[in-house]
Amino acid sequence: MRKNEKIRCQSCNEELGQNSVVFKCPSCGKRDITRCDHCRKVGVKYKCECGFEGP
Ligand SMILES: [Zn+2]
Ligand SMILES: [Zn+2]
Repeated sequence: MRKNEKIRCQSCNEELGQNSVVFKCPSCGKRDITRCDHCRKVGVKYKCECGFEGP
């Protein structure tokens, strides 16, 4: 993996800015879930590789 790679929102693929969140998947705890401010506000679903989906 490249070190300086920008983290992108998992839902819309935008670069994460202020008010974005990164957290571990609550189901498997292995994958980082990344969400931008926009996707948090509109409540876009995220999906982990393990199959977990959340609001
Ligand atoms: Zn987004
Ligand atoms: Zn997971």
